[in-house]
Amino acid sequence: MSKVRIYTLAKELGVDNHKMLELLDGLGVAYKSVSSTIEEETVELIKQLLAEEAGADTTGATAEPAVADTTPATETAAAPAEPAATPARQPETEPAAEPVNEVPHRAPVVTIMGHVDHGKTSLLDYIRKTKVAAKEAGGITQHVGAFEAKTSKGKIVFIDTPGHEAFTTIRARGANVADIAIIVIAADDSLMPQTREAIAHAQAAKVPMIVAINKVDLPQADPEKVKTDLTQLNLVPEEYGGDVVVVPVSAKTGEGVEDLLEYISLTAELEDLRADPKGQFSGVIIEGRVDKQAGVLATVMVQEGTLHVGDFLVVGESYGKIKAMTDSNGGRIKEAGPSTPVQILGFSEVPSSGEKVQSAKNEHAAREVIAQRADQRRDEEDARDRRRAQRSLEDLL
Ligand code: GDP
Ligand code: MG
Repeated sequence: MSKVRIYTLAKELGVDNHKMLELLDGLGVAYKSVSSTIEEETVELIKQLLAEEAGADTTGATAEPAVADTTPATETAAAPAEPAATPARQPETEPAAEPVNEVPHRAPVVTIMGHVDHGKTSLLDYIRKTKVAAKEAGGITQHVGAFEAKTSKGKIVFIDTPGHEAFTTIRARGANVADIAIIVIAADDSLMPQTREAIAHAQAAKVPMIVAINKVDLPQADPEKVKTDLTQLNLVPEEYGGDVVVVPVSAKTGEGVEDLLEYISLTAELEDLRADPKGQFSGVIIEGRVDKQAGVLATVMVQEGTLHVGDFLVVGESYGKIKAMTDSNGGRIKEAGPSTPVQILGFSEVPSSGEKVQSAKNEHAAREVIAQRADQRRDEEDARDRRRAQRSLEDLL
């Protein structure tokens, strides 16, 4: 054993990645991400720290001196100070394992981007087929624009309007729905113009990226070329010593998809995504449309707080009352917490992707918010008109 990746070690030792990073911070060890590698000596130190903690847990008065005794013998000069400092922190760190007032974690929201025909839709279809509980027969299949996948590592929400449009229009309105971007690159085609665009978008949004090299089942697949091409863009894959997570997959055979989901969970864990279900509601429109029978339907991603049937919502200068809500699987629901995509019936106008959604206490409050917004908009328009008039006057003189 020489160098080992942080997440591999975490898994091996049965601690979560956060804990591992805390320990490394405590040791003053530099790292870029959980996929960074650490030296064997550091691994030994970590193991000792964990052993000490375990010893402290069982109130082992004997365990501590035992570790302290072995420390000087096995470690070089730099080490003894660190483990000695740690037991003193034990009483504080232990109760923290049981957070009481902390904002709870929420599921990651993932977007899939990449060049046309590289397999975005196929990959989403595969995940949906294998990770979404089958809908009851007879339900109307409606496109919601997002779905929830249940994985062994927890829930992952996928925005299933692939392509950059969803991501960019939403971002253009100042909202950010995606926590993680999957960049799909076909192994037989490598980097293409829209791949570069997708990468640029993810970088601009400061959203962590995971590269999925798709179509590895094809005989002409050349994943190594993709990795080399990525390196030229300064995106150095892990196995080349960088920190870009690259996962070979096939949307056709399903190969690697489980790994991809695991990497998503791993990335999400590091991002430490949290939202308060009891907080003030806020959300973003994923998409809106008119259904001939139902009327205006809008998919909202809940970002903070919880939505309930009957709530009043304000979008731009219009409001609505939630008459009915369905989850991304088509099931009727009464409430929805953070990181839940829901389809809402009750808006009077079709909202656009990326518009922010807020809640109001009642109809009166909703109208007030809208009146204020309308006032503000008119003021801005007036100011703009005056500036224009001023300019043309100056031009004239
Ligand atoms: P999109 O434009 O990125 O959404 O790409 P699609 O999902 O529509 O896929 C484009 C084509 O590639 C389709 O004919 C798919 O069947 C095919 N395809 C997608 N993924 C794979 C894969 O993993 N292996 C193979 N052999 N074909 C794939
Ligand atoms: Mg597609």
